[in-house]
Amino acid sequence: MERVIYCQGCGVPIQTSDPKEAGYLPASALKNDTVICQRCFRLKHYNEVQDVPYDDQDFLDMISQINQTQGLIVKLIDIFDFNGSFISSLHRLTGKNPIILVGNKVDLLPKSTNLNRLKQWIKKSAADLGLVVQDVFLISAVKGKGIDEVKEAMEYYRKTQDVYVVGSTNVGKSTFINRLINDSTGTKEVITTSYFPGTTLGFIEIPLDKHSSLYDTPGVINRGQMAHYMSDKDLKAITPTKEIKPIIYQLQEGQTLFFGGLARMDIIKGEKQPFVCYFANQLSIHRTKLENADALYETHQGDMLAPPNKDSLHLLPNFTTNTFKIDGDKTDIVIPGLGWITLSGQAVTVEMHTPQTVATSKRNAII
Ligand code: GDP
Repeated sequence: MERVIYCQGCGVPIQTSDPKEAGYLPASALKNDTVICQRCFRLKHYNEVQDVPYDDQDFLDMISQINQTQGLIVKLIDIFDFNGSFISSLHRLTGKNPIILVGNKVDLLPKSTNLNRLKQWIKKSAADLGLVVQDVFLISAVKGKGIDEVKEAMEYYRKTQDVYVVGSTNVGKSTFINRLINDSTGTKEVITTSYFPGTTLGFIEIPLDKHSSLYDTPGVINRGQMAHYMSDKDLKAITPTKEIKPIIYQLQEGQTLFFGGLARMDIIKGEKQPFVCYFANQLSIHRTKLENADALYETHQGDMLAPPNKDSLHLLPNFTTNTFKIDGDKTDIVIPGLGWITLSGQAVTVEMHTPQTVATSKRNAII
């Protein structure tokens, strides 16, 4: 029988076949006496956290260990994908520990964004999902914006206890933690083994002071994330890489907009008015007549109406329809993981067609 070797950094069984999975180590490196996986190696030598996703249940089993300990939870979300990056089962697993919510990627928002309103929306959406948080912060892990405020809040709320950083894949957790590690000076041995009783997986432990640590937990995969229904190439086409520039369409009853082949908005009722679209600058948006929309989709899904491209079309779940009646308030219709459309508040009824696992919602306009 083959002997199972465990990583001395994080405790996962070592494997040499899949670089994308937990515990990977090139076979050639197995000869060394001290065995640590590639993720821990990089963290130790280059202060670089590599994200390795685990499946949902592994993650949730791990996270549930937190409710037997005391500490502060720092929960990261992607502000472009609140629903997709919000792990709604989390609060049942983390016990009575205080939580701060950190919305990442604020650098992608237009300068005119009302950040207070965005914070309020995040706080309210979290409360609607049953999560009461101590505070909400908006940061850019890449640019370093807002990090000091989060650090201050961490010190304040953790009250000398440990900190657990949690988040779904792709929220920028590695970028955030790398920044925290690189900002903190004098920590040479950043990783230590940190098992919880009854689990094989360990968290990565980064010492904060003599008595407490910050724990990096693996990124959870959330099936509601648009990102899971597309290839890497498709994902590039929907992910904003710099400040998004809105595109304004003047539309009226009987018109349709396609957002690649991933979402469709039909104007069912309403006078001509502006629809301000906030999406990745490279995402192609197509306008057509509502009466031609079905046929256009049939003919052009996967080419003109892409992403998803032809080779990843089969990943796309069936579409579902949500109707929104807007009248009075300036409102955003949000497509998680893609972007949003701002309506002026003039009376209008729109139908949104999106993959059924990616629910559209509305909020008070943030711009
Ligand atoms: P993880 O899966 O949560 O560990 O996420 P990563 O740190 O690997 O980041 C996922 C993607 O989001 C990468 O393409 C990052 O470059 C990007 N990203 C992370 N933080 C930010 C940010 O503050 N702003 C922007 N624009 N992109 C970010």
